[in-house]
Amino acid sequence: MKIVDKFKKVKPLISFEIFPPKADSPVTTIYDTIDDLYNLDPDFMSVTYGAGGSTKDKTVEIASYIQNRYNLTSLAHITCISSTKDEIDMILNSLKDNNVRNIMALRGDYPKDPNVVLPTNRYKNSAELIQHIKDTSDFCIGAACYPEKHPDAKDLDSDIDFLKRKMDAGADFFTTQMFFDNEAFYDFYDLTAKKGINVPITAGIMPILNKRQVNTVKNLTGNAVPKKLMRVLERYENDPEALREAGMAFAISQIIELLSWGVDGIHIYTMNKPDNARKILSSITAIRSVLTSENKIPTQDQSN
Ligand SMILES: Cc1cc2nc3c(=O)[nH]c(=O)nc-3n(C[C@H](O)[C@H](O)[C@H](O)COP(=O)(O)OP(=O)(O)OC[C@H]3O[C@@H](n4cnc5c(N)ncnc54)[C@H](O)[C@@H]3O)c2cc1C
Repeated sequence: MKIVDKFKKVKPLISFEIFPPKADSPVTTIYDTIDDLYNLDPDFMSVTYGAGGSTKDKTVEIASYIQNRYNLTSLAHITCISSTKDEIDMILNSLKDNNVRNIMALRGDYPKDPNVVLPTNRYKNSAELIQHIKDTSDFCIGAACYPEKHPDAKDLDSDIDFLKRKMDAGADFFTTQMFFDNEAFYDFYDLTAKKGINVPITAGIMPILNKRQVNTVKNLTGNAVPKKLMRVLERYENDPEALREAGMAFAISQIIELLSWGVDGIHIYTMNKPDNARKILSSITAIRSVLTSENKIPTQDQSN
């Protein structure tokens, strides 16, 4: 089923992100993880695409497996920066042939190695990729957004102008980069509404469970890590179990507040750890059921 249609039926959507196993591991090593996550009853599951397309075959295979083995809506990520237009079409055809109806259309990061030559015949940014997918197929298209702005953007205002270009090109919904400060997300949401962005925006949340993750996140996103999270991480950094408890509690309280605010969806960056996702969902069981019963639009169609 298309994710955009799910948003019309029930809000908030709860979804999980997983990443494919490394190149030297068989794809089957992730099947137990998928099984555990499926049992938590998400609305959809997304599968990332390794930098530079390094896992593209596995992304297609895993997204297809989720869709066809479980009849659970899957979302396949694609990045266009390192692929020719023909290669992108091959991936799109393969997803279509495997009943995957949803694509997260991304540019991807520029390669760190300055010697890598990018194909000239490529989509230069996500808006161009989205436009192509919209013009040539019937996929539901998700795209990325950045509440604290993308590092390439001059400022948040111009970043949101580009986001509007993605929506106008055909993006049906947006998923945010992980963030830790809900106020930044609320301000961002208001700005997007002022600029005419009216598609669902689902909030990407990642529990921080060790201090190494903080540096990774800072380098990856350029995001600020709020003082209250840093205080917790520093207080318990020498005890992994205490740190895990504290990081999890922070993510759960962030999610509860976002749900109360009325967020369209929560997308959990699971890091392929079903236990973390289980802990989060078991802390919001009653909240989730209140919200879904309030927001559910009755329908006959139960297909996925
Ligand atoms: C939800 C989510 C999922 C992700 N999944 C993956 C994944 O599976 N694999 C992976 O490798 N990476 C993934 N990423 C990371 C992503 O690839 C990087 O953030 C990348 O640097 C930008 O991709 P994009 O699609 O946002 O790029 P774009 O939207 O094309 O551009 C990024 C920013 O650059 C600026 N920009 C670009 N072009 C223009 C222009 N013509 N005019 C003005 N401004 C412009 C805008 O500020 C824009 O926000 C994901 C990110 C998110 C938030």
